[in-house]
Amino acid sequence: MKVRFVTLGCKLNFAESSALGRALLQGGHTRAEDGEQADICVLNTCTVTDAADHKCRQALSRLRRENPEAVIVVTGCYAQLTADKLGNQQSTGKEQSMAVPKSWEDADYILGNDAKFAIPELVERISNRQSTAGKQVVLSTPIREIESFHGALSFSHTDSEEDEQRTSITDRTQRTRCFLKVQDGCNYFCTYCTIPYARGKSRNPQITELVRDAQQAVQDGAREIVLTGVNIADFGRSTGETFLQLLQALDNLSGDYRLRIGSCEPNLLTPEIIDFVADSRHIAPHFHIPLQSGSNEVLQIMKRHYTRELFAERVAYIRSKLPLAFIGVDCMVGVRGETKEYFEDYLQFVEQLDVSQLHVFTYSERARTRMLEMDLEVVPPTERKRRSDILHRLSEQKTKAFYSRNAGQQLTVLWESRNAKGQMAGFTENYIKVTAPYDPAKVNSFETIKYHL
Ligand code: SF4
Repeated sequence: MKVRFVTLGCKLNFAESSALGRALLQGGHTRAEDGEQADICVLNTCTVTDAADHKCRQALSRLRRENPEAVIVVTGCYAQLTADKLGNQQSTGKEQSMAVPKSWEDADYILGNDAKFAIPELVERISNRQSTAGKQVVLSTPIREIESFHGALSFSHTDSEEDEQRTSITDRTQRTRCFLKVQDGCNYFCTYCTIPYARGKSRNPQITELVRDAQQAVQDGAREIVLTGVNIADFGRSTGETFLQLLQALDNLSGDYRLRIGSCEPNLLTPEIIDFVADSRHIAPHFHIPLQSGSNEVLQIMKRHYTRELFAERVAYIRSKLPLAFIGVDCMVGVRGETKEYFEDYLQFVEQLDVSQLHVFTYSERARTRMLEMDLEVVPPTERKRRSDILHRLSEQKTKAFYSRNAGQQLTVLWESRNAKGQMAGFTENYIKVTAPYDPAKVNSFETIKYHL
């Protein structure tokens, strides 16, 4: 069968699509090339915002339009929430035929996040002509019952989402960077977030399994391993191990490689972890920390697990140990109850934070979240946009200052593939993108350079 994957959302989704794609290639199926009709299309969805939902629905109708005869399988977080809703939250874990909303009529199968991992088996059944007889099939485990952890590893040359969409069915010839899923789910239930409803409770595999997979990836040629998950520093909740122990074990692989840590909640990013990163042989000085708001009142509304003072302490501690570390910070704007005064307070706080980049998200009202039950001022969309623009501008200034601080420093680049202009690009350990004329001998290797703006 010719299979096309379209993946939206986070690195975790890409890692899962990639693992599924590899399983299909191993099963003798092939990737539908651009412009070629697919027999099966898999859409791996995201539901983090209204805009993400909208993108998924658009991608679904495009897949149907471009592949009129294909069997279309929709899975991922948006599919999980839809399946739960369709099953009136009593989905049975068995296949069911149900009436789906109009926008989902193009799908033949709707698979929740757990059922996603049955896709190779499903493709076998479809290739043996076991059709759905024109009925839509919904297969999903109720979110509260999901206990299992499905490992995933994706290989990619690039950090661009667009390219990764195209490479979600990939083989191990694309090796420079890989994304290793170390954790899934979240137990925090922040008031604005639907992820715990779509991904389930926090869980992880044993460290030994991850060390085995990571070592294999390095042996296969991966030079950078990015640890991904929903709440990765919560690692160990289901095995009694700790995130620090995981880092210690992964710092001890054999071979030439580096590790990058994905997003870590500030309350879980302890000084011990920061000390370990500072002294480690392989972990890149790169932190991604969700702040979400710089107002303590709004953090309370969001039911986050820290105050802004703790956040500032963590950033200052990183800077004291790793002055050139890249620190990316997630910032949300426009949640319910974020008054003008609270936003001003937030802005002043972020202005004085010594960080490298802000990843700005505009709040959108999500069904099932506790924030919808809060009787608080709703920030109008135009005002949300204004606040987002302000933080984007601040982010540009911070990134510029970060690059200037690095000028003249010796940094180590991992060279990746060639781009359309005959250049090759790579990232330094502290996540600065640099380019140079294409030299095939350097691809997938480290080089120490003097950084210039
Ligand atoms: S920590 Fe909060 S924001 Fe992050 S996934 Fe969990 S519930 Fe959502």
